Amino acid sequence: MENKINNNLLVCKACGYKTKSKNLRNVCPACGVDKKFFIPFTDNISHIRRSILELHMHPIAVHFSVAMSVFLFLTILVSLFTGGKFSAFLQSASAVISITLPFFIIAGLVSGIIDGVARFKKVKRPMLLNKIYLSAGFLIIAIVILAIIQIYGFDYLYINIILLILCFLSAICATLLGKLGGQLTDAILPGK
Ligand SMILES: [Zn+2]
Repeated sequence: MENKINNNLLVCKACGYKTKSKNLRNVCPACGVDKKFFIPFTDNISHIRRSILELHMHPIAVHFSVAMSVFLFLTILVSLFTGGKFSAFLQSASAVISITLPFFIIAGLVSGIIDGVARFKKVKRPMLLNKIYLSAGFLIIAIVILAIIQIYGFDYLYINIILLILCFLSAICATLLGKLGGQLTDAILPGK
């Protein structure tokens, strides 16, 4: 298949933002340059790969796990400084989040592998492999958090402190994953 012009899409020469020609107003909605900087977008990757990437499955899925790991840290932390019903409410919320977090990390991992293959054609690329190892670590930490909460609950201070440390580590994994992901989505894709 030859490189083909995607008739519907225009690309901003200044920033790379893509939009349908019918949606283009006077300026680039991303960087603000005049619309004369837009040229027809020549796609060098296949239709199927473009369609998969356009779903944005991975960035959508990962935002849940990142938000949840930070939220879990905060609910446990705040529950230590509050008492009575509110503290019990935060602990129940933490328990629910700890059950859902591993599923969202798995969703992020699976969608990331699909996205990675569509983007770079193979999983065996150094940065993609680093992301897979890092998300495996993220998943293991989340499962340990879940197990500790199921077994010990929140009754002991030292258990809460261990949970906070693990949540902090999981948030670091999530941040590093986001940083690597950002660098990968900026990359120019290998053709066809
Ligand atoms: Zn632009």
